Amino acid sequence: MSTIKTQGIIIKRSNLGDADKILTVYTKDRGKLKAIAKGIRRINSKLAGELEPYSLVDFQFHEGKSLDTVTSAVTIEDASVLAKSCEDFTKAHYFGELIDKLTEEGEKNSDLFEILRLALFRLCKGDDNPFLLPFYELKVLDRLGYNPQVYYCVRCRRKLLNGENYFSYQDGGVVCGECAKYGLPQISVNTIKIFRLIIESDISLVDRLKVDSETLLELENVLDKYTTNILERETKSKKILKSL
Ligand SMILES: [Zn+2]
Repeated sequence: MSTIKTQGIIIKRSNLGDADKILTVYTKDRGKLKAIAKGIRRINSKLAGELEPYSLVDFQFHEGKSLDTVTSAVTIEDASVLAKSCEDFTKAHYFGELIDKLTEEGEKNSDLFEILRLALFRLCKGDDNPFLLPFYELKVLDRLGYNPQVYYCVRCRRKLLNGENYFSYQDGGVVCGECAKYGLPQISVNTIKIFRLIIESDISLVDRLKVDSETLLELENVLDKYTTNILERETKSKKILKSL
């Protein structure tokens, strides 16, 4: 058994016994990891202040047979400010929940860690750009290989044209006007272009791109249904976000 040193972000916490918590941490070097934080719920716990949800933390874990144990934690970027806003906290919750639901333990993915870190950092700085959430959603899906096909028709494989196009949740992408049968929802050329831009760009796109409200709504709707389809159910945090 050995020591693991890595940066990580706590995406979930649950109580264990009287004094402990089980943390789900998305780490830079090990992907998702579950660890016990012993005694964290005691008043004099040294670790307690360092283990806030969504903070970026320098961790040391002791590797265990089934669960690892937190042996040291030092906060690098504190996210406790998120708790002041229900909307921000719920968004952060969704950011974490999406990754938690789509990943297995021990699968390293530094791109995914970086997207989570940067999106949370923006929330902490008060970024309320509504484009951040759909950007994050698609970026996470793309990095995990769940990206929808937005360059070619999923049925005839021909390059998409700027005419009428449709979206098939079942086929996972855009269907051209010639292949689309009755019943598929239409998707605008603008939304298709934004899908491509998100897949090809880094997070600075959120500042650079001005998305009109009609396109934003379509983008949010398509991605919401597409994500729910992949997860096979709606996440709790997304449900709350919609009700706010
Ligand atoms: Zn086609």
